[in-house]
Amino acid sequence: MHLQSIRARLTFWYTSLLTVTLLVLGGAAYGLLSYSLSHEVDAALNGVATTLAERSHDNSVSIPPAEIEEMFRRFFGFSPWDRYYERLDPFGHRDPREPKSPQQRPPLSKEALNNASQGIPTFETVEGLEPYPVRLVTMPVMEGHRVINLIQVGMSLQSVSETRVRFLLIMGGVLPLGLLLAGVGGWLLARRALEPVARMTEAAQRIGAEHLADRLEETGAGDELDHLAKTLNEMLGRLDAAFSQIRQFSASASHELQTPLTILKGELEVALRSPRSLQEYRDVLNSSLEEVDRIAQLVEGLLLLSRAEAGVLKMDQQPVDLTQLLEEVHARLKLLADSRSVELRLGPTELISILGDRERLRRLLMNLTDNAIKYTEQGGSVTLSLQGDENWASVLVADTGIGIPQDEQEKIFQPFYRTDEARSQVQNGTGLGLCIARSIAVAHDGAIQVDSTPGLGSTFRVLIPVQKEMSSVRNF
Ligand code: ADP
Repeated sequence: MHLQSIRARLTFWYTSLLTVTLLVLGGAAYGLLSYSLSHEVDAALNGVATTLAERSHDNSVSIPPAEIEEMFRRFFGFSPWDRYYERLDPFGHRDPREPKSPQQRPPLSKEALNNASQGIPTFETVEGLEPYPVRLVTMPVMEGHRVINLIQVGMSLQSVSETRVRFLLIMGGVLPLGLLLAGVGGWLLARRALEPVARMTEAAQRIGAEHLADRLEETGAGDELDHLAKTLNEMLGRLDAAFSQIRQFSASASHELQTPLTILKGELEVALRSPRSLQEYRDVLNSSLEEVDRIAQLVEGLLLLSRAEAGVLKMDQQPVDLTQLLEEVHARLKLLADSRSVELRLGPTELISILGDRERLRRLLMNLTDNAIKYTEQGGSVTLSLQGDENWASVLVADTGIGIPQDEQEKIFQPFYRTDEARSQVQNGTGLGLCIARSIAVAHDGAIQVDSTPGLGSTFRVLIPVQKEMSSVRNF
């Protein structure tokens, strides 16, 4: 049998189990039948032999008594006197007074003679007297403690053997038939039970990347298959969401790349249309360089994000002095802040070192500080500070800028997401900065939280775990 399918395997196991059960039950029934048949034969022989033994005290009564012979014939269909009946003296010799019987004499074994001399009856099965075995009882006839005669009564086991054979024949015929019926029934039952699985497979094959909105049919029965359909549907839902996110991401990425490329192309085309002065060429090249920088920045950001997403973003595990890093970021962006008339302050800092990638962490803090300066109007301020406890180091970048509406505070971490307010105020954002910053924090087993009130300002909090072995380096 081709056992690849669950259906075939179920049927095979079911039928095998049934075969074993039926064989065991059949064997037990056969054993019981044989036992009770032999028991009945022995009981009948014992009854006849005992009656004969009692009667043989009275020599006047003919042996066998007519009524016993009649009874025997009625119940067993024959009489043992036709074949196996003998009355012997205590030493096993035939009573000379007995009429010479034409039948075959039953044998007298040494064991039976020995038992009889002690007053014990012996039951034996003797082969070879006729085609079927003969069951024989040798019964001592007692007078007080003395054995005066031996009585032997035998009976052919033909009907017992025939009953046994009949039983085996019936079993031999019924068993395969029962198994065949059970096998076919099992096969049909398994098909019925697995029908929903086949339907699900078919439906799942239909659902490709193009039809991720399709769902498997849920029966609502609450059984295992319904549960499976629900689970698969939930998985399809997640896949659908992931696919549309990827689609959205590539569409946004191409759009973001297309804008600087179009500007670049336009500027170069205009420059080439007619002869220009050296200064004009310089201006065009400078402007083009800005666009190329923007494209490079975008591509680098996308690459970093895709690596982070694939879990192959390589991170150093070196001790990083966060205070020093914050001072460095402050120093680097001070000029930019000044140029926009935004005050960049270095607030209270604790001396905290963590294990991490210095370059990536600097990029994270630069992104946040750059945003804070970008989205703060003239006269506002941005404060960098550092706090910590046994477990976490937290860097705070607080500004008095435009703020972020409550319902967008989680969305701003998605790639290319920008608030309307930000779009209207700052043109040159890529929408990747916060997404990259969060990826870097997560790669350090950390997180970024935001707390903001539109019109009042925002505070970004970067949480980085302090390694146990590093906590001793705190406040050095
Ligand atoms: P970008 O700044 O290039 O637009 P980011 O990913 O860094 O991209 O930021 C995503 C969006 O989050 C910004 O467009 C802006 O809407 C919002 N945002 C980020 N930082 C601030 C901030 N300090 N204040 C107000 N809005 C902010």
